[in-house]
Amino acid sequence: MIIVLKIGSNEQDIQQVTDAVKQFGYEAKIIRGVERTVIACVGDERNHHTLESLIVLPQVESVTPIQKKYKLVSREYRAQDTVLDVAGRKIGGDTFHVVAGPCSVETTQQTLETAQAVKSSGATLFRGGAFKPRTSPYDFQGLGQPGLEMLKEARDATGLPIVTEVMAPHDVELVARYADVLQIGARNAQNIPLLAAAAATGKPILLKRGLSGLIDEWLLAAEYICVHGNSQVILCERGIRTFEHACRNTLDISAVAVAKKETHLPVFVDPSHAAGRHDMVIPLARAAVAAGADGLLIEVHPNPAMALSDGGQQLKPQQFAQLMAEIRPIVEVMGRRLGA
Ligand code: PEP
Ligand code: MN
Repeated sequence: MIIVLKIGSNEQDIQQVTDAVKQFGYEAKIIRGVERTVIACVGDERNHHTLESLIVLPQVESVTPIQKKYKLVSREYRAQDTVLDVAGRKIGGDTFHVVAGPCSVETTQQTLETAQAVKSSGATLFRGGAFKPRTSPYDFQGLGQPGLEMLKEARDATGLPIVTEVMAPHDVELVARYADVLQIGARNAQNIPLLAAAAATGKPILLKRGLSGLIDEWLLAAEYICVHGNSQVILCERGIRTFEHACRNTLDISAVAVAKKETHLPVFVDPSHAAGRHDMVIPLARAAVAAGADGLLIEVHPNPAMALSDGGQQLKPQQFAQLMAEIRPIVEVMGRRLGA
């Protein structure tokens, strides 16, 4: 932590700050400039966040942390990429994985048909929501446990592992009985009790970035999961809220590059929720692969016009096949291969 004192601070002001710094367990190194005095505080900042409160002292101009607050998810902690094992699929390694399936599980027929279709085009995991975090309480809220049963049928029929969202700590145990990967959605990206409960299952967790979440906040949410003893986290960028409304959200491609640099965790991109419109999903998917993502999450529905949620952004099975064909050469240029 670096503390800059205001111009005109006297010896007594410097002493007062130095005493406070020492009280918090840091060593204080005083650097006297011509106009200003700077105090460098040496110690492990991750255990001593309290120094930030020294900003209230009248002689203090600024208090700036020099270390990141996350630790377990950082490249400094672990230099090599984390590779997760999801039912034999290696996530985050040389193979590029595509998770595909409907926004919501609606019927057995719709679920099985979509699972078969996405599998035949090369998806390696199947997604579908049974607990839906809808903005409006009047919209379809998901089928709950019967929906989880349909996902299980899809896994039994296709062998594809299941990614499905859990919205509340009290549902974690139920959802974890069916899911191979627990999804934590954008609206719950900073729901600390949910992060902790999901972590405790020991299952891999796909963690979406919050609707207006900073990259740091996203990585700290992942840190919560790791702190609770589970480092099997897949980060998922899904677009953030900006002033631009041409798409539902703005896909933050820079988040992929930043997350890959800062952390050792696999990074996926969900262009479906970023775009909010089917005709933008393929171009955004191509960009995500080229930016270095480890995988994609794509919404697919046999009949999007009749979908109970997110109809406008879901791809028809043949459009999904087109997406897979278009990303394949980019995946290969990036030194990877598509999962089979
Ligand atoms: C979803 O994946 O179905 C979903 C609701 O996504 P998000 O949390 O990113 O809005
Ligand atoms: Mn959706």
